[in-house]
Amino acid sequence: MKTLGLYLHIPFCRSKCLYCDFCSFPRQDEEKMTEYVSALFRDLKRYAPICREYVVDTVFFGGGTPTTLPAYLLKALMDEIYQNYNVSPNAEITAECNPVTGERELFSRMRAAGINRLSIGLQSAHENELKALGRLHTFETFAACFADARAAGFDNISVDVMSGIPHQTPESRKETLQKVLSLGPEHISSYDLIIEAGTPFARKRATLPLPDEDAARQMYLEGIAFLAQNGYAQYEISNFARPGYESRHNLKYWNCDEYLGFGVAAHSDFGGERFGNSRDIEAYIKGEDITEERGTPNQAEREDEYVMLRFRLCEGLDTVAFENRFGTSFEDAYGKKLAPFVRTGLVCKEGNRYFFSREGMLVSNTILSEILDFGEQA
Ligand code: SF4
Repeated sequence: MKTLGLYLHIPFCRSKCLYCDFCSFPRQDEEKMTEYVSALFRDLKRYAPICREYVVDTVFFGGGTPTTLPAYLLKALMDEIYQNYNVSPNAEITAECNPVTGERELFSRMRAAGINRLSIGLQSAHENELKALGRLHTFETFAACFADARAAGFDNISVDVMSGIPHQTPESRKETLQKVLSLGPEHISSYDLIIEAGTPFARKRATLPLPDEDAARQMYLEGIAFLAQNGYAQYEISNFARPGYESRHNLKYWNCDEYLGFGVAAHSDFGGERFGNSRDIEAYIKGEDITEERGTPNQAEREDEYVMLRFRLCEGLDTVAFENRFGTSFEDAYGKKLAPFVRTGLVCKEGNRYFFSREGMLVSNTILSEILDFGEQA
C-alpha cells in the first residue's frame, strides 16, 4: 500500500507575533473554531474515497496554533481522521503548540485522542528577544508547558528555536540552546528569522537591532556543533534530532512523497497534481472552492523540485536514486552546474551522493538558484 501524510491547517492564535506571515487569525471565538472544524470534516470526508489505497503514516496539525482549539475539537478531528482513513497504528501524529496554550489537561486529552508528538514554539529563552518578537510567553511558561506535556505522556517533543532575532548575540543564542537541552527534547528545529513583506517587522526593518551577517554565521555553525556534541544530529538544514526522532512528516516534503493538506493555506501533492488553498477562511467555511493553484508539474519541474528538496537533507541526493525515479541522468542535467561548487567545497561529492558542506548550507539558496531552472524566480 502507498503511504500518505495528512496536513491540517488550524489558523488560530492567541495573538499575532510581529514577524509572522503564516495564515493565522488571532482571538477567534469558539463558534468560529467550530465552524472551521466542521469545514475540515467536510473535506476530510470528501477526499477519503480517493485515499482508500493509501495508508496514512503521518498526520500534522500545523498553524496557526492548533492547541488554541478546545480539546474536544481536536479529538473530534482525530476521530474523523480515524473513521475515514486507514491510519497506520505506528503513525506519527504531531500538533504544533504555543507555550501559552499548553496545559496538562489539554495535553492528556490530546494523547488520549491519538496525538503522539508535540512541536512547541519557544524561539528564544531570553525575555528581551521574546518581547521583540511579540511572543506572549517567557522561558518559564515554556518550561512549565514542556513539563505538562511530559507528564501527559508525550515522549516525542520538538522545540522550535530561532536565530537572527533582534538583540540576539552568539552568547544569548547558546544560552537558549543550553536551556532547551536541559529539558531533553527529542527534536530541535532552528530556523532563521525571515522578515516577510506586510508584517510589522517589515515596516520597521531599518530600526530593528538585528545580528549582523558574521554573528548569524557564527550562531549557525556553533549551533550545529553544540547540538552534535549533545547527541542531536543535524539531518536537514534547520533540523536536528536524537537518533530515530527525525520528523517523519517533514521528511515526506523533502523526499517529495505524497501528502494532502486540509484547510486554508494548506497545500497538497497528490496523485501527480499539486494544489493549494487561499487564506479566505469565510469562503472556506461556506464551502466555496478556494483552490488557487492547481497544476500537474512536468518532468523537468519535478526533477528540479526533487533536487531542491533533497539538497536540504544532510544526506543529500543519490544520483542512482534520482535516475531510478526519473529515468534520466543526474550528471547530464546538473553535474556541470554543480562542478564549480564542488571545486570550492560548498558542495561535497562522495560516491553517488552530492550534499552541501556546512559552509554550503549557509548559502544554499544562492547555490540552488544557480543550478535550478526555476531558481531564478525563487
Ligand atoms: S504563534 Fe506562530 S502562527 Fe501564531 S502568530 Fe505567532 S508565529 Fe504566527
